[in-house]
Amino acid sequence: MKKIICLISFCSILIASIYFYQRSPGPKPNDWNSLNSKVGGRLIKSPSYDEATLTKLQSPFAIQDYPWATQSTGWLKAWSVAVSPYTVAVQNTDDIVAAVKFAKKHHLKLVIKGTGHDYLGRSNAPDSLLVWTHNMRDVHVHDRFIPQGAPDEATGVNAVTIQAGARWIEVYEEVTTKNSRYVQGGGCTSVGAVGGFLQGGGFGSFSKKYGMAAGSLLEAEVVVASGEILIANQYQNTDLFWALKGGGGGTFGIVSKATLQTHDLPNYFGSLQGKITANTDEDFETLLGYFITFYHENLNNEHWGEQIKLKPNNSLDLSLLFQGLSEKEVEDIWKPFNQWMEERNKSYTIDLSYFTFPPNKLWDYDYLTAHYPNSIEGKNKLFYWSGDQAEVLAYWYTYQSCWIPSALFDKNASKTFAHTLFNASRHWEFSLHFNKGLAGASAEALKSAQDTSINPAVIDAAALAIFGAFTHEANIEKGLEQIHKVNTAVKIITDFIPGSGSYSNETNYFQKDWQQAFWGKNYPRLLEIKKKYDPEGFFQCHHSVGSL
Ligand SMILES: Cc1cc2nc3c(=O)[nH]c(=O)nc-3n(C[C@H](O)[C@H](O)[C@H](O)COP(=O)(O)OP(=O)(O)OC[C@H]3O[C@@H](n4cnc5c(N)ncnc54)[C@H](O)[C@@H]3O)c2cc1C
Repeated sequence: MKKIICLISFCSILIASIYFYQRSPGPKPNDWNSLNSKVGGRLIKSPSYDEATLTKLQSPFAIQDYPWATQSTGWLKAWSVAVSPYTVAVQNTDDIVAAVKFAKKHHLKLVIKGTGHDYLGRSNAPDSLLVWTHNMRDVHVHDRFIPQGAPDEATGVNAVTIQAGARWIEVYEEVTTKNSRYVQGGGCTSVGAVGGFLQGGGFGSFSKKYGMAAGSLLEAEVVVASGEILIANQYQNTDLFWALKGGGGGTFGIVSKATLQTHDLPNYFGSLQGKITANTDEDFETLLGYFITFYHENLNNEHWGEQIKLKPNNSLDLSLLFQGLSEKEVEDIWKPFNQWMEERNKSYTIDLSYFTFPPNKLWDYDYLTAHYPNSIEGKNKLFYWSGDQAEVLAYWYTYQSCWIPSALFDKNASKTFAHTLFNASRHWEFSLHFNKGLAGASAEALKSAQDTSINPAVIDAAALAIFGAFTHEANIEKGLEQIHKVNTAVKIITDFIPGSGSYSNETNYFQKDWQQAFWGKNYPRLLEIKKKYDPEGFFQCHHSVGSL
């Protein structure tokens, strides 16, 4: 029955959208002039794609200064960057309203871009009107934030209100560096705080403690398809509020600003980096089995996040971050691991180090430049982690993800799971992001995640496995070869855990059964909400709720 309702809802959005876009007379020059004066002269006409300029840009922040540029340049046989002939460089919510009403009236496709970080190219589209939120970047920290419509006795919580175009580094600067608070944002500093990241769920290094960004959402201001400005929170427009917490960007409206809860800082943040190389295939598989059990018993908790990478050359790279633990505590936790390695020093080479640092310095440019200059790139406060450099202007052959249920890390299952991981790693390297699965997370993180619209598989997932292949100079033959290798690796894992789901923000353009993979049992409810707030299917993105 649910499936039939879902199908009827989908068909009605589809028919409405086809009808809507077929009647497309197109605006006349006078119409554009009138839009331009409504948005205070912020309509940019025909920005052109300038490859020569683009290839000189090495920083994600420099790329974001251009309305036509995106972090990734395309994806083989999927999408390549398309420049909108007209862009509204919105500066306030009224500009957004004007752009939405104009696109609607003239039957134009509307596309929204904050940072242009979307892997699936959902923030650019040909023949569209672009709403570019880049200039809306205010970040305001509150001591006590009370959502609109809250009962009189509400006392409020610590929070931060972020405008649509702000990047995480700008939020961290205000919240952590200046105000010594913590907000759950992204690991990558150049990702947008309010756009696709938040609305797709949003994981950061310490999500096992603080949950997803979506779980911290207190209130959003949204321009919906009718052009109305709605406030969504736990007291009003509650269905829209829930949909925005994981239902995906570019789908339910344009979020002009969002308010997220902030938290006390822990006593420590820390980093553990290392590389272990096994001498033989057999040693590597044994190492994986041991690590899985070690992880399950010692690291599957609110303290640890980030990732490990398994490589075909039998190396295991550890790139973990932790919170709330001193160096002594970390030493004790890793003692059995180091002992195990020592006893097998003929089979493995290990290089492991860890350190802690003051929590309010994690995103402090001056501190990082003084103490860890090689860890960052970029100018002054707009910096990013050196490890993120390779992906700048990437052209994707493929990118895929799947959640790994925590049960596989159990002692009884670890041997078979290690064998599966080993087999997959023969074909292509991949990483397990522990902070993008919430098994072992704090009670607070789990509670807030349960009230989001992301695929509930995340709750019981120990990690998100991510596989990717990209280049900076596309070569179809090489691309197809790499896609084949990645697909083989992914298939080995997904055959082992069918239907495990995928994270919609970091996923495959060609994901099969994407409604189920991204949202699981939440999809029918999301589709109903989409129909309520956007009955004509005005907001359309690839593989988004109600998409064509
Ligand atoms: C280098 C890199 C690192 C990343 N690291 C992480 C990470 O640590 N954790 C994680 O969870 N994800 C991460 N991601 C994935 C990230 O969450 C997605 O790429 C996400 O879509 C980015 O959102 P954005 O708004 O910055 O990008 P955009 O490309 O600007 O937008 C993405 C989508 O959101 C829509 N959108 C943008 N702004 C709005 C708005 N104001 N209202 C409504 N819709 C909007 C767009 O139309 C598009 O559909 C990373 C991505 C990259 C490229």
